[in-house]
Amino acid sequence: MDETIFDKILQQKIPAHIVHDDEDVLAFHDINAQAPTHVLVIPKKKITGFDDLEKLSNEEAGKYIKKVSHIAKNLDKGNKGYRIVFNNGEDGQQTVNYIHAHILLGRQLKWPPG
Ligand code: AMP
Repeated sequence: MDETIFDKILQQKIPAHIVHDDEDVLAFHDINAQAPTHVLVIPKKKITGFDDLEKLSNEEAGKYIKKVSHIAKNLDKGNKGYRIVFNNGEDGQQTVNYIHAHILLGRQLKWPPG
């Protein structure tokens, strides 16, 4: 698998504004925020995208999703809601080939997405 910008953040080769770091996941602010709060969550065990979720064990995948939930809940202090997005593949406009959950909150989000 090619080294991505998120591998470099994980290896501390480039800086990021980290909001959560534990043995399973890393969460940091998106450099090009699309909402007042826009955080990305990656599992430390790399897979390319949502398509590859089956490459994680049930325990690893379960922990990842639960930690996305935990981080989102803690960001959402006003309890006004948030959106979780996994872009996948070309039509999904995935630009970084390291799975990442986008957590977006802090404004009224629109539906449908573009
Ligand atoms: P996606 O288009 O779903 O693959 O999302 C990739 C996201 O990574 C985009 O929202 C980018 O703004 C974000 N991004 C790219 N480089 C960095 C970086 N160095 N630090 C934080 N976020 C980044």
